[in-house]
Amino acid sequence: MHLNWIMPAKERKYNKHNRISFGIYCRGIRFFYFDMLKQRSNKTDPSRIMDIIAKSLELHDLNLPEISELLALDDPDLWSKVFDAARRVKEKVYGNRIVLFAPLYLSNECLNDCLYCGFRKGNKDAVRKTLTINEAVQEASLLAERGYKRLLLVASEHNKLMSMDYFEKVVDAIYKETDIRILHMNFAPMSVENFRRLKAVGVGVYQCFQETYHIPTYRYMHEKGSKADYAWRMSAMDRAVEAGFEDIGMGVLLGLYDWRWEVGALMAHSRRLINKYGFGPHTISVPRLQPAQGSRLNDWPNRVSDEDLKKIVAIYRLALPYVGVVVSTRENPDIRDELFLLGASQVSAGSKTSPLGYVDHGDTEQFEIGDKRSLEEVIMKIAELGLMPSLCTACYREGRSGEMFRDLAQNQAMKGICHTNALLSLKEYIEDSVSEDVKNKLEWVLKEETPKNSNGLSDKFRLIEEGERDIHI
Ligand code: SAM
Ligand code: SF4
Repeated sequence: MHLNWIMPAKERKYNKHNRISFGIYCRGIRFFYFDMLKQRSNKTDPSRIMDIIAKSLELHDLNLPEISELLALDDPDLWSKVFDAARRVKEKVYGNRIVLFAPLYLSNECLNDCLYCGFRKGNKDAVRKTLTINEAVQEASLLAERGYKRLLLVASEHNKLMSMDYFEKVVDAIYKETDIRILHMNFAPMSVENFRRLKAVGVGVYQCFQETYHIPTYRYMHEKGSKADYAWRMSAMDRAVEAGFEDIGMGVLLGLYDWRWEVGALMAHSRRLINKYGFGPHTISVPRLQPAQGSRLNDWPNRVSDEDLKKIVAIYRLALPYVGVVVSTRENPDIRDELFLLGASQVSAGSKTSPLGYVDHGDTEQFEIGDKRSLEEVIMKIAELGLMPSLCTACYREGRSGEMFRDLAQNQAMKGICHTNALLSLKEYIEDSVSEDVKNKLEWVLKEETPKNSNGLSDKFRLIEEGERDIHI
Protein backbone atom coordinates (compact mmCIF):
# COMPACT_ATOMS: atom_id res chain seq x y z
CA MET A 1 0.00 0.00 0.00
CA HIS A 2 1.30 3.45 -0.89
CA LEU A 3 1.25 6.19 1.69
CA ASN A 4 1.20 9.20 -0.59
CA TRP A 5 -1.96 10.39 1.09
CA ILE A 6 0.03 11.25 4.19
CA MET A 7 3.01 12.87 2.46
CA PRO A 8 3.30 16.44 1.18
CA ALA A 9 4.08 16.40 -2.54
CA LYS A 10 7.60 17.74 -2.09
CA GLU A 11 8.51 14.68 -0.06
CA ARG A 12 7.49 12.21 -2.69
CA LYS A 13 11.04 12.01 -3.98
CA TYR A 14 11.56 9.37 -1.29
CA ASN A 15 9.02 7.42 -3.30
CA LYS A 16 10.76 4.07 -3.32
CA HIS A 17 10.52 4.09 0.46
CA ASN A 18 6.79 4.67 0.42
CA ARG A 19 5.99 1.05 -0.11
CA ILE A 20 5.42 -0.09 3.45
CA SER A 21 2.78 -2.63 4.24
CA PHE A 22 -0.29 -1.25 5.91
CA GLY A 23 0.16 -3.78 8.73
CA ILE A 24 3.60 -2.45 9.65
CA TYR A 25 2.39 1.10 9.40
CA CYS A 26 -0.53 0.44 11.73
CA ARG A 27 1.54 -1.55 14.20
CA GLY A 28 4.02 1.29 14.47
CA ILE A 29 1.80 4.26 14.38
CA ARG A 30 -1.59 2.83 15.34
CA PHE A 31 -2.70 5.96 17.13
CA PHE A 32 -3.25 8.67 14.61
CA TYR A 33 -4.21 10.32 11.56
CA PHE A 34 -6.16 13.38 12.50
CA ASP A 35 -7.40 16.00 10.20
CA MET A 36 -4.55 18.46 10.17
CA LEU A 37 -4.26 18.90 6.43
CA LYS A 38 -7.98 19.58 6.18
CA GLN A 39 -7.70 22.07 9.03
CA ARG A 40 -5.00 23.92 7.14
CA SER A 41 -7.24 24.50 4.15
CA ASN A 42 -10.05 25.83 6.36
CA LYS A 43 -10.18 29.48 7.40
CA THR A 44 -9.14 29.98 11.04
CA ASP A 45 -11.88 31.03 13.41
CA PRO A 46 -10.18 33.50 15.85
CA SER A 47 -12.75 32.88 18.58
CA ARG A 48 -11.98 29.17 18.41
CA ILE A 49 -8.24 29.90 18.88
CA MET A 50 -9.05 32.17 21.84
CA ASP A 51 -11.09 29.31 23.40
CA ILE A 52 -8.12 26.97 22.97
CA ILE A 53 -5.79 29.53 24.58
CA ALA A 54 -8.23 29.99 27.48
CA LYS A 55 -8.33 26.22 28.03
CA SER A 56 -4.50 26.10 28.21
CA LEU A 57 -4.41 29.03 30.59
CA GLU A 58 -6.58 26.98 32.91
CA LEU A 59 -3.84 24.35 32.64
CA HIS A 60 -5.92 21.74 30.86
CA ASP A 61 -4.27 19.54 28.24
CA LEU A 62 -5.39 20.15 24.68
CA ASN A 63 -6.95 17.37 22.63
CA LEU A 64 -5.75 16.44 19.14
CA PRO A 65 -8.30 18.48 17.16
CA GLU A 66 -7.32 21.55 19.23
CA ILE A 67 -3.63 20.90 18.66
CA SER A 68 -4.21 20.50 14.95
CA GLU A 69 -5.98 23.87 14.89
CA LEU A 70 -2.88 25.48 16.38
CA LEU A 71 -0.71 23.64 13.88
CA ALA A 72 -2.84 25.00 11.06
CA LEU A 73 -2.66 28.60 12.29
CA ASP A 74 -1.23 31.23 9.92
CA ASP A 75 -2.41 34.58 11.28
CA PRO A 76 0.58 36.46 12.87
CA ASP A 77 -1.68 38.35 15.33
CA LEU A 78 -3.12 35.12 16.63
CA TRP A 79 0.38 33.66 16.86
CA SER A 80 1.49 36.54 19.05
CA LYS A 81 -1.45 35.70 21.35
CA VAL A 82 -0.34 32.06 21.40
CA PHE A 83 3.24 33.11 22.29
CA ASP A 84 1.97 35.32 25.07
CA ALA A 85 -0.18 32.46 26.40
CA ALA A 86 2.84 30.09 26.34
CA ARG A 87 4.76 32.54 28.55
CA ARG A 88 1.83 32.78 30.97
CA VAL A 89 1.24 29.02 31.12
CA LYS A 90 4.95 28.43 31.88
CA GLU A 91 4.78 31.08 34.61
CA LYS A 92 1.66 29.50 36.15
CA VAL A 93 3.15 26.02 36.25
CA TYR A 94 6.85 26.59 36.98
CA GLY A 95 7.11 30.29 37.87
CA ASN A 96 10.13 31.97 36.33
CA ARG A 97 12.69 29.23 36.96
CA ILE A 98 14.81 27.61 34.29
CA VAL A 99 16.69 24.46 35.24
CA LEU A 100 20.20 23.93 33.85
CA PHE A 101 22.07 20.73 33.01
CA ALA A 102 24.85 19.41 30.75
CA PRO A 103 25.12 16.32 28.53
CA LEU A 104 27.93 13.85 29.19
CA TYR A 105 28.79 11.78 26.12
CA LEU A 106 29.98 8.27 26.97
CA SER A 107 30.79 6.98 23.50
CA ASN A 108 30.73 7.85 19.81
CA GLU A 109 31.24 4.26 18.61
CA CYS A 110 28.00 3.36 16.88
CA LEU A 111 26.68 0.37 14.95
CA ASN A 112 23.84 2.38 13.41
CA ASP A 113 24.08 4.59 10.38
CA CYS A 114 21.60 7.42 10.89
CA LEU A 115 22.23 9.66 7.91
CA TYR A 116 22.29 12.90 9.91
CA CYS A 117 24.62 11.93 12.77
CA GLY A 118 28.39 12.42 13.11
CA PHE A 119 28.66 9.16 15.08
CA ARG A 120 27.17 6.98 12.34
CA LYS A 121 29.05 3.81 11.47
CA GLY A 122 29.67 4.92 7.90
CA ASN A 123 31.56 8.06 8.99
CA LYS A 124 35.04 6.74 8.25
CA ASP A 125 36.73 10.01 9.25
CA ALA A 126 35.38 9.87 12.79
CA VAL A 127 37.87 9.52 15.64
CA ARG A 128 36.17 6.99 17.93
CA LYS A 129 36.21 6.90 21.69
CA THR A 130 34.36 5.14 24.52
CA LEU A 131 34.99 6.47 28.03
CA THR A 132 36.35 4.15 30.69
CA ILE A 133 34.52 4.27 34.02
CA ASN A 134 37.33 6.47 35.37
CA GLU A 135 37.10 8.86 32.45
CA ALA A 136 33.34 9.16 32.90
CA VAL A 137 33.92 10.01 36.58
CA GLN A 138 36.61 12.54 35.59
CA GLU A 139 34.20 14.28 33.20
CA ALA A 140 31.41 14.28 35.79
CA SER A 141 33.73 15.61 38.53
CA LEU A 142 34.83 18.49 36.35
CA LEU A 143 31.21 19.36 35.58
CA ALA A 144 30.33 19.13 39.28
CA GLU A 145 33.16 21.57 40.05
CA ARG A 146 31.64 23.98 37.56
CA GLY A 147 28.39 23.82 39.51
CA TYR A 148 26.27 21.28 37.61
CA LYS A 149 24.17 18.91 39.72
CA ARG A 150 22.24 17.22 36.91
CA LEU A 151 23.77 15.48 33.89
CA LEU A 152 22.28 13.77 30.87
CA LEU A 153 24.30 10.70 29.91
CA VAL A 154 24.30 10.28 26.13
CA ALA A 155 25.70 7.41 24.10
CA SER A 156 25.80 5.87 20.70
CA GLU A 157 24.43 2.36 20.21
CA HIS A 158 26.85 -0.54 20.47
CA ASN A 159 25.75 -3.84 21.97
CA LYS A 160 29.24 -4.80 23.20
CA LEU A 161 30.70 -1.45 24.32
CA MET A 162 27.46 0.01 25.67
CA SER A 163 26.37 -2.97 27.74
CA MET A 164 24.08 -2.85 30.75
CA ASP A 165 27.00 -3.76 33.03
CA TYR A 166 28.89 -0.73 31.70
CA PHE A 167 25.94 1.63 32.28
CA GLU A 168 25.44 0.35 35.80
CA LYS A 169 29.10 0.83 36.66
CA VAL A 170 29.20 4.34 35.16
CA VAL A 171 26.06 5.51 36.98
CA ASP A 172 27.11 3.95 40.25
CA ALA A 173 30.62 5.42 40.09
CA ILE A 174 29.39 8.94 39.23
CA TYR A 175 26.89 8.92 42.13
CA LYS A 176 29.50 7.58 44.57
CA GLU A 177 32.51 9.62 43.52
CA THR A 178 31.15 13.02 42.47
CA ASP A 179 28.72 15.68 43.66
CA ILE A 180 26.36 15.04 40.75
CA ARG A 181 22.91 14.43 42.24
CA ILE A 182 20.85 13.14 39.34
CA LEU A 183 21.70 11.39 36.10
CA HIS A 184 19.27 11.24 33.22
CA MET A 185 19.92 9.13 30.15
CA ASN A 186 19.49 9.42 26.42
CA PHE A 187 20.10 5.92 25.05
CA ALA A 188 18.74 3.60 22.45
CA PRO A 189 15.53 1.74 23.37
CA MET A 190 16.04 -1.38 25.45
CA SER A 191 14.15 -4.34 26.91
CA VAL A 192 11.93 -4.06 30.00
CA GLU A 193 14.49 -6.02 31.98
CA ASN A 194 17.30 -3.61 31.08
CA PHE A 195 15.09 -0.59 31.79
CA ARG A 196 14.50 -2.11 35.25
CA ARG A 197 18.25 -2.30 35.84
CA LEU A 198 18.64 1.35 34.82
CA LYS A 199 15.87 2.39 37.13
CA ALA A 200 17.32 0.36 40.00
CA VAL A 201 20.68 2.08 39.71
CA GLY A 202 19.04 5.50 40.11
CA VAL A 203 18.52 6.99 36.66
CA GLY A 204 15.99 9.87 36.73
CA VAL A 205 14.55 10.47 33.27
CA TYR A 206 14.82 8.04 30.37
CA GLN A 207 14.94 10.10 27.19
CA CYS A 208 14.64 8.88 23.62
CA PHE A 209 13.60 10.78 20.50
CA GLN A 210 11.52 9.04 17.86
CA GLU A 211 13.47 11.20 15.32
CA THR A 212 10.58 11.04 12.85
CA TYR A 213 7.16 9.45 13.16
CA HIS A 214 6.85 9.36 9.41
CA ILE A 215 7.68 5.81 8.39
CA PRO A 216 8.97 6.43 4.85
CA THR A 217 11.28 9.15 6.14
CA TYR A 218 12.26 6.98 9.12
CA ARG A 219 13.27 4.19 6.77
CA TYR A 220 15.22 6.51 4.54
CA MET A 221 17.16 8.00 7.47
CA HIS A 222 17.80 4.70 9.31
CA GLU A 223 18.48 2.12 6.68
CA LYS A 224 20.80 -0.15 8.69
CA GLY A 225 21.43 -1.33 12.24
CA SER A 226 19.02 -1.96 15.09
CA LYS A 227 17.62 1.56 14.81
CA ALA A 228 16.03 0.58 11.51
CA ASP A 229 13.29 -1.07 13.58
CA TYR A 230 10.67 1.70 13.80
CA ALA A 231 8.24 -0.28 15.95
CA TRP A 232 10.91 -1.15 18.56
CA ARG A 233 11.71 2.56 18.97
CA MET A 234 8.07 3.54 18.93
CA SER A 235 7.29 1.19 21.81
CA ALA A 236 10.33 2.20 23.92
CA MET A 237 8.33 4.42 26.27
CA ASP A 238 5.80 1.66 26.97
CA ARG A 239 8.64 -0.64 28.02
CA ALA A 240 10.27 2.11 30.11
CA VAL A 241 6.99 2.77 31.94
CA GLU A 242 6.41 -0.96 32.42
CA ALA A 243 9.86 -1.12 34.03
CA GLY A 244 8.96 1.66 36.48
CA PHE A 245 10.13 4.86 34.77
CA GLU A 246 7.55 7.54 35.45
CA ASP A 247 9.70 10.32 34.04
CA ILE A 248 10.15 9.85 30.33
CA GLY A 249 11.56 12.35 27.84
CA MET A 250 10.35 12.48 24.25
CA GLY A 251 11.01 14.47 21.09
CA VAL A 252 11.34 14.49 17.32
CA LEU A 253 14.44 15.54 15.44
CA LEU A 254 13.10 18.69 13.83
CA GLY A 255 14.08 19.01 10.18
CA LEU A 256 13.73 15.42 9.01
CA TYR A 257 10.12 15.79 7.90
CA ASP A 258 7.30 18.38 7.87
CA TRP A 259 7.39 19.76 11.45
CA ARG A 260 3.62 20.22 11.68
CA TRP A 261 3.03 16.58 10.96
CA GLU A 262 5.76 15.51 13.40
CA VAL A 263 4.52 17.71 16.23
CA GLY A 264 0.98 16.38 15.70
CA ALA A 265 2.27 12.81 15.76
CA LEU A 266 4.31 13.38 18.92
CA MET A 267 1.28 14.89 20.61
CA ALA A 268 -0.80 11.90 19.51
CA HIS A 269 1.83 9.54 20.90
CA SER A 270 1.82 11.51 24.19
CA ARG A 271 -1.97 11.41 24.43
CA ARG A 272 -1.90 7.66 23.93
CA LEU A 273 0.55 7.30 26.84
CA ILE A 274 -1.57 9.61 29.03
CA ASN A 275 -4.69 7.58 28.29
CA LYS A 276 -2.92 4.33 29.01
CA TYR A 277 -0.79 5.19 32.08
CA GLY A 278 -2.32 8.36 33.54
CA PHE A 279 0.78 10.40 32.65
CA GLY A 280 2.67 11.31 29.51
CA PRO A 281 6.11 12.72 28.84
CA HIS A 282 7.83 14.46 31.74
CA THR A 283 9.90 16.41 29.22
CA ILE A 284 9.70 17.16 25.53
CA SER A 285 12.88 18.27 23.77
CA VAL A 286 13.08 20.36 20.64
CA PRO A 287 16.29 19.09 18.97
CA ARG A 288 16.70 20.82 15.61
CA LEU A 289 18.86 19.18 12.95
CA GLN A 290 22.40 20.63 12.87
CA PRO A 291 25.30 20.12 10.48
CA ALA A 292 27.50 17.21 11.54
CA GLN A 293 30.91 16.13 10.33
CA GLY A 294 30.35 12.98 8.23
CA SER A 295 26.60 13.49 7.88
CA ARG A 296 25.13 12.04 4.69
CA LEU A 297 22.22 14.40 4.72
CA ASN A 298 23.17 16.91 2.03
CA ASP A 299 19.68 17.69 0.90
CA TRP A 300 17.66 19.20 3.72
CA PRO A 301 14.18 20.05 2.50
CA ASN A 302 12.39 20.27 5.84
CA ARG A 303 14.59 22.82 7.59
CA VAL A 304 12.75 24.42 10.53
CA SER A 305 13.06 28.21 10.74
CA ASP A 306 13.61 30.12 13.99
CA GLU A 307 10.04 31.40 13.81
CA ASP A 308 8.70 27.87 13.43
CA LEU A 309 10.85 26.67 16.33
CA LYS A 310 9.20 29.29 18.52
CA LYS A 311 5.79 28.04 17.36
CA ILE A 312 6.75 24.46 18.22
CA VAL A 313 7.83 25.40 21.77
CA ALA A 314 4.61 27.37 22.24
CA ILE A 315 2.44 24.48 20.98
CA TYR A 316 4.11 21.95 23.31
CA ARG A 317 3.67 24.36 26.23
CA LEU A 318 -0.02 24.92 25.50
CA ALA A 319 -0.82 21.33 24.59
CA LEU A 320 0.71 19.81 27.75
CA PRO A 321 1.02 22.68 30.24
CA TYR A 322 2.94 20.70 32.89
CA VAL A 323 5.57 19.28 30.54
CA GLY A 324 9.22 20.32 30.86
CA VAL A 325 10.24 21.81 27.51
CA VAL A 326 13.96 21.22 26.96
CA VAL A 327 16.14 23.43 24.74
CA SER A 328 19.70 22.27 24.02
CA THR A 329 22.87 24.09 22.99
CA ARG A 330 22.25 22.98 19.40
CA GLU A 331 20.65 26.41 19.03
CA ASN A 332 22.49 29.74 18.86
CA PRO A 333 22.33 32.20 21.79
CA ASP A 334 19.81 34.63 20.25
CA ILE A 335 17.08 32.10 19.58
CA ARG A 336 17.83 30.33 22.89
CA ASP A 337 17.28 33.55 24.81
CA GLU A 338 13.95 34.01 23.03
CA LEU A 339 12.92 30.44 23.84
CA PHE A 340 13.87 30.93 27.51
CA LEU A 341 11.19 33.62 27.62
CA LEU A 342 8.69 31.65 25.64
CA GLY A 343 8.00 28.54 27.64
CA ALA A 344 11.24 26.56 27.82
CA SER A 345 11.79 25.23 31.33
CA GLN A 346 15.00 23.18 31.11
CA VAL A 347 18.13 24.08 29.16
CA SER A 348 21.60 22.67 28.70
CA ALA A 349 24.57 25.02 28.92
CA GLY A 350 28.33 24.85 28.42
CA SER A 351 27.85 21.56 26.53
CA LYS A 352 30.27 19.37 24.58
CA THR A 353 28.97 16.61 22.30
CA SER A 354 32.04 14.38 22.14
CA PRO A 355 33.34 11.80 24.63
CA LEU A 356 36.02 13.43 26.84
CA GLY A 357 34.94 16.80 25.45
CA TYR A 358 35.15 18.53 28.84
CA VAL A 359 38.46 17.29 30.23
CA ASP A 360 40.20 17.20 26.88
CA HIS A 361 39.35 18.65 23.46
CA GLY A 362 37.32 15.47 22.77
CA ASP A 363 37.11 13.35 19.63
CA THR A 364 34.44 13.44 16.92
CA GLU A 365 31.42 15.40 18.11
CA GLN A 366 27.86 14.41 17.32
CA PHE A 367 26.82 17.72 15.76
CA GLU A 368 27.86 21.35 15.87
CA ILE A 369 27.06 23.36 19.00
CA GLY A 370 25.24 26.66 18.43
CA ASP A 371 25.53 28.18 21.91
CA LYS A 372 29.11 28.08 23.14
CA ARG A 373 28.50 30.15 26.29
CA SER A 374 29.66 28.69 29.60
CA LEU A 375 27.27 27.66 32.40
CA GLU A 376 28.15 30.88 34.23
CA GLU A 377 27.39 33.03 31.17
CA VAL A 378 24.05 31.34 30.57
CA ILE A 379 23.11 31.68 34.24
CA MET A 380 23.91 35.38 34.12
CA LYS A 381 21.87 35.79 30.93
CA ILE A 382 18.87 33.98 32.42
CA ALA A 383 19.00 36.29 35.44
CA GLU A 384 19.34 39.33 33.17
CA LEU A 385 16.17 38.27 31.35
CA GLY A 386 14.30 38.43 34.66
CA LEU A 387 14.17 34.64 35.01
CA MET A 388 15.45 32.46 37.81
CA PRO A 389 18.38 30.09 37.06
CA SER A 390 18.05 26.80 38.95
CA LEU A 391 20.33 23.82 39.54
CA CYS A 392 17.64 21.93 41.43
CA THR A 393 17.38 18.13 41.34
CA ALA A 394 14.84 17.64 44.12
CA CYS A 395 11.79 16.11 42.45
CA TYR A 396 13.43 12.95 41.18
CA ARG A 397 14.78 12.26 44.66
CA GLU A 398 11.63 13.25 46.53
CA GLY A 399 9.39 10.95 44.50
CA ARG A 400 7.56 13.77 42.73
CA SER A 401 7.24 11.97 39.41
CA GLY A 402 4.69 10.71 36.89
CA GLU A 403 1.05 11.32 37.79
CA MET A 404 1.94 12.97 41.12
CA PHE A 405 4.20 15.54 39.43
CA ARG A 406 1.58 16.21 36.82
CA ASP A 407 -1.12 16.79 39.48
CA LEU A 408 1.11 19.11 41.51
CA ALA A 409 2.00 21.07 38.36
CA GLN A 410 -1.60 21.33 37.20
CA ASN A 411 -2.71 22.52 40.64
CA GLN A 412 0.02 25.19 40.53
CA ALA A 413 1.72 23.70 43.57
CA MET A 414 5.04 23.14 41.78
CA LYS A 415 5.65 26.82 41.23
CA GLY A 416 6.40 27.56 44.91
CA ILE A 417 8.46 24.38 45.37
CA CYS A 418 10.49 25.20 42.25
CA HIS A 419 11.13 28.78 43.32
CA THR A 420 12.40 27.81 46.79
CA ASN A 421 14.63 25.07 45.39
CA ALA A 422 15.94 27.39 42.67
CA LEU A 423 16.98 29.90 45.33
CA LEU A 424 18.64 27.25 47.50
CA SER A 425 20.51 25.70 44.58
CA LEU A 426 21.63 29.12 43.34
CA LYS A 427 22.94 29.95 46.80
CA GLU A 428 25.06 26.77 46.75
CA TYR A 429 26.31 27.64 43.29
CA ILE A 430 27.32 31.10 44.48
CA GLU A 431 29.19 29.65 47.46
CA ASP A 432 31.01 26.92 45.54
CA SER A 433 31.56 27.71 41.90
CA VAL A 434 31.71 31.37 40.87
CA SER A 435 34.14 34.28 40.75
CA GLU A 436 33.79 37.24 43.15
CA ASP A 437 32.31 39.49 40.47
CA VAL A 438 29.60 36.99 39.47
CA LYS A 439 28.99 36.23 43.15
CA ASN A 440 28.03 39.85 43.84
CA LYS A 441 25.66 39.99 40.87
CA LEU A 442 23.96 36.71 41.78
CA GLU A 443 23.65 37.66 45.45
CA TRP A 444 21.64 40.62 44.22
CA VAL A 445 19.38 38.25 42.20
CA LEU A 446 18.87 36.13 45.33
CA LYS A 447 17.88 39.19 47.33
CA GLU A 448 15.41 40.34 44.68
CA GLU A 449 13.84 36.90 44.28
CA THR A 450 13.58 35.93 47.96
CA PRO A 451 10.08 36.57 49.26
CA LYS A 452 10.05 39.40 51.86
CA ASN A 453 8.76 37.47 54.88
CA SER A 454 10.62 34.25 54.38
CA ASN A 455 12.79 33.96 57.48
CA GLY A 456 13.03 30.22 56.89
CA LEU A 457 14.93 30.82 53.69
CA SER A 458 17.40 33.22 55.28
CA ASP A 459 18.19 30.54 57.87
CA LYS A 460 18.75 28.01 55.12
CA PHE A 461 21.03 30.43 53.26
CA ARG A 462 23.06 30.80 56.47
CA LEU A 463 23.36 27.01 56.78
CA ILE A 464 24.63 26.85 53.20
CA GLU A 465 27.22 29.56 53.99
CA GLU A 466 28.30 27.41 56.95
CA GLY A 467 28.87 24.46 54.62
CA GLU A 468 25.63 22.47 54.64
CA ARG A 469 24.68 21.16 51.19
CA ASP A 470 21.70 19.77 49.29
CA ILE A 471 19.03 21.61 51.29
CA HIS A 472 15.79 21.34 49.36
CA ILE A 473 12.08 20.80 49.76
N1 SAM B 1 22.22 6.86 20.06
C1 SAM B 1 20.97 6.99 20.73
C2 SAM B 1 19.85 7.26 19.77
O1 SAM B 1 20.13 7.49 18.60
O2 SAM B 1 18.72 7.21 20.23
C3 SAM B 1 20.94 8.09 21.75
C4 SAM B 1 21.85 9.24 21.67
S1 SAM B 1 21.81 10.24 20.20
C5 SAM B 1 23.50 10.56 20.44
C6 SAM B 1 20.82 11.61 20.78
C7 SAM B 1 20.02 12.34 19.76
O3 SAM B 1 20.83 13.25 19.04
C8 SAM B 1 19.37 11.55 18.69
O4 SAM B 1 18.20 10.93 19.15
C9 SAM B 1 19.10 12.59 17.61
O5 SAM B 1 17.78 13.11 17.71
C10 SAM B 1 20.08 13.71 17.93
N2 SAM B 1 20.95 14.03 16.80
C11 SAM B 1 21.68 13.17 16.06
N3 SAM B 1 22.30 13.84 15.05
C12 SAM B 1 21.94 15.13 15.14
C13 SAM B 1 22.23 16.30 14.37
N4 SAM B 1 23.00 16.27 13.29
N5 SAM B 1 21.68 17.48 14.76
C14 SAM B 1 20.89 17.54 15.86
N6 SAM B 1 20.59 16.47 16.62
C15 SAM B 1 21.09 15.26 16.27
FE1 SF4 C 1 24.21 6.21 16.52
FE2 SF4 C 1 22.32 7.61 17.84
FE3 SF4 C 1 23.94 8.80 16.06
FE4 SF4 C 1 22.13 7.15 15.20
S1 SF4 C 1 21.74 9.10 16.30
S2 SF4 C 1 24.26 7.16 14.50
S3 SF4 C 1 22.09 5.62 16.82
S4 SF4 C 1 24.51 7.89 17.98
